[in-house]
Amino acid sequence: MPKANETLLEIDLNALGDNYKYLTSKIKKNTKVMAVVKAFGYGSDAVAVAKELVHCGVTYFAVAYAGEGATLRNAGIQIPILVLHPLPTNFDLIVNSCLEPSIYSRKMLHDFIAYAEAKSQKEYPIHLKINTGLNRLGFKSEDISFIAEMLAETKSVKVRSVFSHLAASEDAAQREFTLRQIEAFRSISTTLTNALGYQTLLHTVNTSGIINFPEAQFDMVRTGIGLYGFGNDPRENQFLKPVATLKTVISQIHTIEAGENVGYNMGFNAKSRTRTATLPIGHADGISRAFGKGVGWVTIHGKKAPIVGNVCMDMIMVDVTNIDCEEGDEVEVFGENPTAEELALAIQSIPYELLTAVSQRIKRVICRK
Ligand SMILES: *Cc1c(COP(=O)(O)O)cnc(C)c1O
Repeated sequence: MPKANETLLEIDLNALGDNYKYLTSKIKKNTKVMAVVKAFGYGSDAVAVAKELVHCGVTYFAVAYAGEGATLRNAGIQIPILVLHPLPTNFDLIVNSCLEPSIYSRKMLHDFIAYAEAKSQKEYPIHLKINTGLNRLGFKSEDISFIAEMLAETKSVKVRSVFSHLAASEDAAQREFTLRQIEAFRSISTTLTNALGYQTLLHTVNTSGIINFPEAQFDMVRTGIGLYGFGNDPRENQFLKPVATLKTVISQIHTIEAGENVGYNMGFNAKSRTRTATLPIGHADGISRAFGKGVGWVTIHGKKAPIVGNVCMDMIMVDVTNIDCEEGDEVEVFGENPTAEELALAIQSIPYELLTAVSQRIKRVICRK
């Protein structure tokens, strides 16, 4: 890669392909893969990632919202796309873009059938979401007869899959809870497909579910974070490669004398002569204010440069007193060192949040390392 001379997010499609291979090595040959590309592909570039994953052989994509699915369609993605969290106001966009809605409540089922009938749809694919303990979205067992009756009365929609979502698949301490969720899913999905009178795809595990509950693969697995290089487990992280690397550059270097301050509200007061580097990235770019005052750091020429003072909207200042560097030098914010997970941990967060926070004003550079 050429040295970064502005803030940019490198997206390594070879790392993505390697992560896909690793994750599929954990599943049975005929288990299908649904790749989760919501939130701009976990902050990367949903279209570039989706195109590469079609090439890798995924069967399905999942996005959170209808607009994200429409973006993929407009970019030429043709394989099925599940919309995890549609709202009635999105039905036109969903059907016009051939997206497949997750139906998670009686109201949604009723409203979508009414819509599909009004639009003379035949067997429009829908997915039924079952709540097995996350208590976020989904039907419970007491809704099965309602669902079966609604579906028996219409030919406008057809159930393509029945699925649920695990609440703590990465947490060994919650293993019993997760096993109960899996059993609840097995039982409810069986009753439901019996009531429907036809088979559908069943799926419930996410990345950590693939790793920790291989017996719960059913027909398909849904993977997001693993594709982007994180396994929610230090042992798994060894086999995965971060897809995104956030880089920036040194704009200016200052030498601060003892007693002088750096940044807004005297966030840093120098105890002795200090050299600082100002970087063109701030909280508007996804570097949380929580990283200020030495909590977060960047890497310059392999060395750790802690953030001094408060994080500004468009800039941070870092301590380079002990680093041989100059204006124009490249800076790694996260990638290999530190990883997004290491940096996220410093503010009690997770890589999911740090990756998806990278703002859209940062240029994405697609590469193959
Ligand atoms: C985001 C999401 C996933 C992906 O989870 P990972 O932990 O990133 O693999 C899977 N299923 C649902 C319902 C989701 O919302």
